[in-house]
Amino acid sequence: MSVVRTRFAPSPTGFVHVGGLRTALYNYLFARKNGGTFILRIEDTDRARYIEGATENLISALNWAGLAPDEGPQQGGDYGPYFQSQRSDIYRAYADELVARGAAYYAFDTAEEIERLREDARRRGAPPPKYDATIRQQMRNSLSLAAAEVRSLLDSGAPSVIRLLIPTDRMFTFQDIIRGEVSFHSSQIDDQVLIKSDGFPTYHLANVVDDHLMKISHVIRGEEWLSSVPKHLYLYECFGWNMPQLAHLPLIFNPDGSKMSKRDIQTTTEPGLNRPTGLNRPTGVDRPSGKVDPDVKYYIDAGYEREAIINYIAFLGWNPGDDREVFSLHELEKEFSLERVNKSAAIFDVQKLNFLNHAHISRLDDKVLAEELAADMRKRGVEISLDDYFLSVVALLKSRLHFRQDFVELSSYFFKHPESYDPQVVKKRWKEDSAQLLLEFVDEIAKLEFFDVAAIEACVQAIAERHAVGNGRVIHPVRLAVSGVGAGPGLFEMLQVLGRETVIKRVKRAIDIIPTLQQY
Ligand code: GLU
Repeated sequence: MSVVRTRFAPSPTGFVHVGGLRTALYNYLFARKNGGTFILRIEDTDRARYIEGATENLISALNWAGLAPDEGPQQGGDYGPYFQSQRSDIYRAYADELVARGAAYYAFDTAEEIERLREDARRRGAPPPKYDATIRQQMRNSLSLAAAEVRSLLDSGAPSVIRLLIPTDRMFTFQDIIRGEVSFHSSQIDDQVLIKSDGFPTYHLANVVDDHLMKISHVIRGEEWLSSVPKHLYLYECFGWNMPQLAHLPLIFNPDGSKMSKRDIQTTTEPGLNRPTGLNRPTGVDRPSGKVDPDVKYYIDAGYEREAIINYIAFLGWNPGDDREVFSLHELEKEFSLERVNKSAAIFDVQKLNFLNHAHISRLDDKVLAEELAADMRKRGVEISLDDYFLSVVALLKSRLHFRQDFVELSSYFFKHPESYDPQVVKKRWKEDSAQLLLEFVDEIAKLEFFDVAAIEACVQAIAERHAVGNGRVIHPVRLAVSGVGAGPGLFEMLQVLGRETVIKRVKRAIDIIPTLQQY
């Protein structure tokens, strides 16, 4: 393959869409896999939609995701500027060239005139009119008006646009790496505005000119842009340029099959949306309406692991061709190929994202996780000393964390005595003989030379055998006594981490308190 140069070319909208991050990711991965260059180009020529801070937001999201471009507004490069708003003169020159060659023309129709046309069609129940071969002669443009009039309109500074002159009765056919051969007939295409009356180019002209000037080899973007290709193809043809290779990525839908939209999320009042921060799981994403939040920030704020988000987004349309599911960004860089991107739409599956979140936490190094958790807890005002004890609690609980914020709740009894005993568990697990068995347990462990998993287990076994009961008769009440709850990590490991002194203290305390509880 010749030199690979890919680009992510967002029009900043104020938030980063899951689909946008996927486009960025695939462009990044494809460039990395093929030893190429990944470029960020900000397509900000639509001044009406300019949003303060949107570009910064986007760049910081890419940096957060680890998808830093090789060339772009921050990095610079040989093909800048990388903001389209700073390249107006370039587009204008190319548009003028098209006009000079007869491939584009001036149009003077005002927005009101075009709107009136639409209104008429609406009234007649006809489809919205296209500015194309069927009507261009009836409109006010440099094809229908006399040359002198055109000149004087231009000289007088009358508002005008430049439109592409789409040839009639032609088939536009191209190859897409994902979708194969695609064709559009010229009758489906309008005379696209290339330069707007404010002098800024439209997406189509700027995109084609920049892809060419920036030597883009592969255009990888969402399927919603597929119908723009014939216009682009024709522009490439007019300029005599080679078109980059194309890959249009499948759409991403809500679980209910609808399009992911921020509006759905903002207007819904279902619970889970205004989820308080802290211990609560991000349940908002799988609420029953079948809508998910398209804003990447939502998942970051909800506490998902960065690696899990990236891994999940990579799988929205791609798979490695076998049953492996858990990938780091680095591993994806080695595996990714456009040939393995699906044609069919992807459905956002929160359960899978949750599964990956758990998987990525399990993959973390104990020490790294401990340091990060301690830092998080300190930020919330919980004083934590990053000692061996804390490290062993983290190592013990890591495989039980679905979200890292679960740690605070799951680990609470490692840092303070249980304040209560779960009544359901008391009812189910505390039997007549529990106090006696626990007293014997305290005696046995007090005598141990080493307080470790094997020795603790042997004590439990010895007591159970002595009383001809199952081990559970000892295990469950001990767990309840030391943790206050009925579930947790393996009991023997947990007791070893807690330490003999604490275990003895808590078991004795439970023997005193539990039999006095009302529910017992
Ligand atoms: N500016 C377009 C967007 O917002 C770019 C589409 C393309 O990649 O060509 O997605």
